[in-house]
Amino acid sequence: MSRDSCDVLIVGCGPAGSTCAWQLAKAGLDVLVMDKHTFPRDKVCAGWVTPAVLESLELDVEDYAQGRVMQPICGFRTGIIGEVAAETHYGRAVSFAIRRCEFDDYLLRRSGGRLRLGETLASMVREGNDWLVNDEIRTPLVIGAGGHFCPVARTLRGASRGSETIVAAQEIEYRLPPGERGACRIEQDVVQFYFCADLKGYGWCFAKGDYLNIGLGREDSHGLSGHVERFRAWLQKNGRIPHDLPGKFNGHAYLLYPESRRKPIDAGVLLIGDAAGLAYARSGEGIRPAVESALMAAEVVLAAAGDYRPARLAPYVDRLTQRYGRKSAQHDTAAWLPQGLRQSLGARLLATEWFARHVVIDRWFLHAQQRAAYGMTSPTR
Ligand SMILES: Cc1cc2nc3c(=O)[nH]c(=O)nc-3n(C[C@H](O)[C@H](O)[C@H](O)COP(=O)(O)OP(=O)(O)OC[C@H]3O[C@@H](n4cnc5c(N)ncnc54)[C@H](O)[C@@H]3O)c2cc1C
Repeated sequence: MSRDSCDVLIVGCGPAGSTCAWQLAKAGLDVLVMDKHTFPRDKVCAGWVTPAVLESLELDVEDYAQGRVMQPICGFRTGIIGEVAAETHYGRAVSFAIRRCEFDDYLLRRSGGRLRLGETLASMVREGNDWLVNDEIRTPLVIGAGGHFCPVARTLRGASRGSETIVAAQEIEYRLPPGERGACRIEQDVVQFYFCADLKGYGWCFAKGDYLNIGLGREDSHGLSGHVERFRAWLQKNGRIPHDLPGKFNGHAYLLYPESRRKPIDAGVLLIGDAAGLAYARSGEGIRPAVESALMAAEVVLAAAGDYRPARLAPYVDRLTQRYGRKSAQHDTAAWLPQGLRQSLGARLLATEWFARHVVIDRWFLHAQQRAAYGMTSPTR
């Protein structure tokens, strides 16, 4: 069998893996990136990104938009499914919608890593200070960027301790036939978010270029398909989406940061993005923490200069804590309220324009209070 070796092997070519490869390859390391899929591939995701993501990625928006979708989002419609919604308009782009099949392929192609696509990580065995991966690739460092079901995360001892809240979500994305565009009430630059009545999740619906994305995610996966079905029917009844959807919804899962029990480092191993369980708790936004954790990991790896003992990788854990907070220190401040009261208070607040703009959109969804970790407006510059 032919052998390969590299300075770093990154498993998974989503936003986390490609961003980390981009930084490490730029610094001169021999980076091998492996994914079980060939690219372009799609990923079950709404594809909504906040400006901090584009800034941290130093994305040339004009270059990106050549033949790809980069939909500016200037407003939001928010409320409870079945109830009155609040409209919030900013008069400028406050976030963007991309298609994951295009976005992930773009980031991968510019990463500068050596690509091994269509290859699954099947085994990783410790041999001295190295890993032998798939009986073939020798490397001192494996970075797990394989998303929620990352095989590298599974190999970490104590990778997952105790119960975790898993978000289960389903979505559909398809090209809207021109004839159906006028038949449904969708404004091109407005995202619609509607919370479930028990506040355990929300559904969304928005256009990006010629495409429409509809989905729903919940912290409680029990009966998810029923929630999705009821949401779809409600949107259709209100004329917001076409009556005929061309396919079925696809599902995926991921972990929210304060709840995630995954251990992000071990000797010669580091986890980034969904593999480490980093998505924001309130919005479920996972692309931003995937990109930011990849950049933090790259800095720590470069500083470790080939010595990947846990003590040398520990600064990565400190960086995650500084950025996203201590896991045990985050509580749901309303958890002590009875569920019925939470629901009725939540429904009233969500219908208020002030709450919708300043709390739901600005704080929970845009994270306007937290500047980009990297890029021109980063506090570290
Ligand atoms: C329905 C839904 C909607 C969402 N909407 C949004 C949104 O609008 N905005 C947002 O910010 N976040 C959203 N998220 C979360 C977001 O999709 C993730 O947080 C994000 O994709 C994490 O990026 P990643 O690079 O860590 O992992 P991923 O994007 O999951 O990439 C992991 C890669 O690893 C590869 N891989 C997996 N196993 C193996 C293996 N054994 N061997 C080799 N390769 C492997 C996979 O093929 C994949 O390419 C959504 C999630 C869901 C489920």
